[in-house]
Amino acid sequence: MFPSLIGTYIAQSKVCMLYKIRDEIHQDYDIVVIGSGLAGMTAANILGRNGHKVLLLESHNKLGGFATWFFRHDRSHVFDISLHGFPVGMIKTCRKYWSKEIADSIVQLHDVRFVNPQFSLQTTFTKENYAKIMVDHFKVPVDIVDAFFTHLTSMNFYDNSQETNGQMFDRFFPGRNDVVRFLMEPITYANGSTLDDPAISYGIVFSNFMSKGVYTFRGGTDVLVGKMKDELLKNNVDIKMQTRVERIIVENGRARGVEIGGKTVRAKVVLSNANIRSTVLNMVGAEHFPESFVTETKAVRLNSSSCQVYMGLKAGAKIPYIGELIFTSSYPTYNPEKLLDIKVSSRTFSVYYPEISRPQDPDARVAIVSSTNCRYEDWKKLSADDYEKEKAFMIEETLKGLEAFVPDIRSKLEVIEAATPLTVERYTLHPAGASFGTKFEGLNVSMNLHKNLPGLYHAGSVGIIMSGWLGAANYGVIQANAIESFLLNEENHARV
Ligand SMILES: Cc1cc2nc3c(=O)[nH]c(=O)nc-3n(C[C@H](O)[C@H](O)[C@H](O)COP(=O)(O)OP(=O)(O)OC[C@H]3O[C@@H](n4cnc5c(N)ncnc54)[C@H](O)[C@@H]3O)c2cc1C
Repeated sequence: MFPSLIGTYIAQSKVCMLYKIRDEIHQDYDIVVIGSGLAGMTAANILGRNGHKVLLLESHNKLGGFATWFFRHDRSHVFDISLHGFPVGMIKTCRKYWSKEIADSIVQLHDVRFVNPQFSLQTTFTKENYAKIMVDHFKVPVDIVDAFFTHLTSMNFYDNSQETNGQMFDRFFPGRNDVVRFLMEPITYANGSTLDDPAISYGIVFSNFMSKGVYTFRGGTDVLVGKMKDELLKNNVDIKMQTRVERIIVENGRARGVEIGGKTVRAKVVLSNANIRSTVLNMVGAEHFPESFVTETKAVRLNSSSCQVYMGLKAGAKIPYIGELIFTSSYPTYNPEKLLDIKVSSRTFSVYYPEISRPQDPDARVAIVSSTNCRYEDWKKLSADDYEKEKAFMIEETLKGLEAFVPDIRSKLEVIEAATPLTVERYTLHPAGASFGTKFEGLNVSMNLHKNLPGLYHAGSVGIIMSGWLGAANYGVIQANAIESFLLNEENHARV
C-alpha cells in the first residue's frame, strides 16, 4: 500500500485523513485515541472497523510506541527496539483484530540460550522443554515440576492470592537459586518483575510464554507497523502524528474530547494509551476525580526502565550462528536488584540474522541488540559528562560480553550506540522512562478509570499482565469492547 502517503486516503468509499502536522481538525469523533502503542492502535483498529468514527493521535512522528525501530547510515542499518520475543497468543490476536497477512508473518524463535555461572543451556522455551530441563539438568523431582506447572496454569486472576513470586518459588524449589534463575530471569527481562511482585502476574505471563515458546514478527517492526497503519486507514481511522495531547476535556463530570495545540477536538469517548498516572494526574487533573481514586493513582508504582546497545555489522560481515535470544550474565546468582544495577553484569542479546528476520531485504545487515533492565534514577542524576561516560562504559562492557560468543566482533561492527531510560522517556513520554508500564496495582486504576470519569478509558501497559506486545494488544481489545458497550448503552438511553 502507501505507507508514507500524507494527506487524504481513499478507502472503501470513505475519505479518511492522514493529517499533516499543520492540519487542523474540524470535526467531532466518536472516539479519540491518545497514543499509538500496540494497545492504542489495536483498539483504534477494532473501533474503526466496527464503524465508529475514530481519531488516533500520536505525539511521535511514527506509530507504534515502544513497538519501534530506527535506521542508521542512510537506512543501511535498521534496529528493532522491542522485537525480542512475545507469546504465541499474538498470532490469534493479530489474525482476529488486524489481518491474516500480519498473523502469518509471526514465527517461532527456536534457539533461546542461557549462559551464566550457574548453567549454560539451550531451550525452545516451550513448557515441555522447560519441564524436561528442570528434571534432567536441574534434577528437580518430576512430581514437583508437574505440580509447579499445574499450579501456574490453574492460577486465576480473580483468586486474589497475596503470594509473591519469591514465596511461590520458595514453596516449590526451596534453596534452588539456579532453578529460580532459569524460571525468573527471562520474565524479569520481559516485564521488569521481581521476586516481590504477585505470583499471579508471573503465573499468567509465564503460562502464556511457556505454552508454545517465543515468537517474533518476520520482516521487522517497521514492516509490521507499516501494515498496521495501512489497516487502520483501510478501516477509516483518521490519524494525526506529531500531535501531543495536552489535556483531556471534562464537562459536567464526563470526558468530552481533547485539547491539542490549544484547540479542542470533541469526542463521545476518549481512550488514553499514555501512561495511566499521566492520564489521570496530568492530562485530566486530580480535581476531576474522587479523592480516593487520586490517592490510589498516586500510589501506583512505575515499573523499571531499559538500556539497550545497538550493534550493526559492516556490509557483508557475518557472524557464526550463536542463537536468537541469549540471556547472559557473569553474576554468580540470580539477583533481581543486580539486574537493575547501572554496572550491570547481565544482559540479553537479540541477534537478528537477516535471512531469518528480514528475508525481504537482500541488503539487510546482521544486527545485535543488547538489552538490560535498569533504574531511571541512576541515569537521571548523572551530569552530562558522567552520562556520556556511563554510556561509553555500558557499550564497552557489552562488547566484552559479546566477545565471549563472537571473539572478533569489534572488527565487524560499523554502528554501535546506546539508549538509556532518558531516551525511553524522551521518545514515549512515559514518566521515568518506564518500559513496562506499572506494577500490579496499576491495573485496578486503569480498569476503573471510566467508573470514576465516564467517557474516559485507558489501554496500555499496566499491572505487568497487560504489558508486552501481547498484553498491550489484548488490553486494547478489552477496552475497545468496553467502549462499544458504553456507546451502545448511551444510544439506548437516548432512545427511551
Ligand atoms: C527496550 C524494550 C524492549 C522490550 N521488549 C519486548 C519484547 O521483546 N517483547 C514484548 O512483548 N514486549 C517488549 N517490550 C514491551 C512492549 O514493547 C510494550 O509493553 C508495548 O509495546 C507497550 O504498548 P502500549 O500500548 O502500552 O503503548 P506504548 O508503546 O507505551 O505507546 C504509548 C504511545 O502513546 C504516545 N503518547 C503518550 N502520551 C501522549 C500524548 N499526550 N499525546 C499523544 N501521544 C502520546 C507515545 O508517544 C507512544 O507512542 C519492550 C519494551 C522496551 C522498552
